[in-house]
Amino acid sequence: MFIPYGKQTITKEDKAAVEQVLSSDFLTQGPRVPDFERAVAEKVGAEHAVAVNSATSALHLACLALGLGVGDRLWTTPITFVATANCGLYCGADVDFVDIDATTGLMCATALRKKLEAAERTGTLPKIVVPVHLAGSSCDMKQIGELAKEYGFAVIEDASHAIGGYYRDSPVGCCRFSEITVFSFHPVKIITTGEGGIATTNDTELAQKLSDLRSHGIVKDPSRFEAACSGPWSYEQQSLGFNYRLTDIQAALGLSQLDRLEAIVMERHRLYKRYQELLEGLPARLMRIPAGVKSSLHLAILRLDDTDARHHLRVFCGLRKAGIGVQLHYSPVHLQPYYRRLGFHEGNFPTAEAYAHNAISLPLYPGLTDSQQLLVSASVRTHLNT
Ligand SMILES: *Cc1c(COP(=O)(O)O)cnc(C)c1O
Repeated sequence: MFIPYGKQTITKEDKAAVEQVLSSDFLTQGPRVPDFERAVAEKVGAEHAVAVNSATSALHLACLALGLGVGDRLWTTPITFVATANCGLYCGADVDFVDIDATTGLMCATALRKKLEAAERTGTLPKIVVPVHLAGSSCDMKQIGELAKEYGFAVIEDASHAIGGYYRDSPVGCCRFSEITVFSFHPVKIITTGEGGIATTNDTELAQKLSDLRSHGIVKDPSRFEAACSGPWSYEQQSLGFNYRLTDIQAALGLSQLDRLEAIVMERHRLYKRYQELLEGLPARLMRIPAGVKSSLHLAILRLDDTDARHHLRVFCGLRKAGIGVQLHYSPVHLQPYYRRLGFHEGNFPTAEAYAHNAISLPLYPGLTDSQQLLVSASVRTHLNT
């Protein structure tokens, strides 16, 4: 039997919620999407939430709403999913990276400051910086927010992993130190809508832009029309948007899942703590969670003491052969073939590159059984001791 690194849990309440929409008048553009948006906004303490069909779409729209375009720069971390960087390229901007902190795996605020100082001298400051809350642990948003003020860039938090997490007692998503926060509802993430994502913000104008761009740039409210309203059939396309809409079927699933957010995060913490106990004494440790952060624990990332790439590969392959779906989150984005063709290469971000040679994500999700967790731990023990 194969144990994946992450997996959704679907209850009978989830199924009932979805079925209810299927029997209703609206499969999409009905009441469930705004219901879901309000519920997420309330849960994370933001003024607005705009639901879309993926976090990738949310990142793209966030960049567009913030005016990112040709000649602009977006910086993010190399240790993320490719979508975090790709959104800058979608807008015609240049993408660059900031190296990580060796122990937390998160964008290093000191490295960011150094890079900003250098960029200021050469007139190449970024318009947007996208910190990623890897594994569910918030980046140091206070420091990043202060740098944003000092250097005049906007911040999009990629919180795809982090719904249910906290930074200094504030829920991730409240946008205290950012313009926009993005969450993913892919099935491996904390809660799911099948595919789906959402952007939260406290800025009414940004929320309006996100909402317009999600649906072709079409405006339906006559009070916002540019031209005189010619009849009750009218709508106006005012910007070049997309069809990035979430369906009501998905939103109903999301609403039902959101009800269990605290329980889901609590169960992840229980499992994580058990891993800590089961893996004690091994030449490896679960990745450090920064002080002041309550992680949503999307991932249990094990860091091997031995930083030799061949050792990492051996352990990885051994676990896979044992039916354990370990994964690497992530192979550095700048070393992907597409990014190499843009000019990036080995040595650009040494800490991120080293991270990729000793990080292993272990299975972690509600529904992982005690015996499965024992099996994973025993297997890790075996492969680390050979
Ligand atoms: C999953 C993920 C995304 C993309 O999410 P989708 O909803 O699949 O588009 C973006 N960034 C990070 C860090 C992710 O983990």
